[in-house]
Amino acid sequence: MLLITCPVTRTDELVPDRRIRSVTNHPTHIALHVDCPACGTVHVFRTGRRWDATRAARAAAPSPVARRAEQSVPA
Ligand SMILES: [Zn+2]
Repeated sequence: MLLITCPVTRTDELVPDRRIRSVTNHPTHIALHVDCPACGTVHVFRTGRRWDATRAARAAAPSPVARRAEQSVPA
């Protein structure tokens, strides 16, 4: 069983393992494709310590690309 929060209905759903469509292992996280019982579509949920760390780092500082773009805008 897996507890997810549906991004469409915003409800917490207990999902049986048979509704997990695929599990993809990435260097930073594991992506779970779940057939949602609340809205009937497939959601991707990412889990993992490194994924949480990169997400926290991204939220804390704007990316260098975004900063360069701001500076190149003419006054
Ligand atoms: Zn859903």
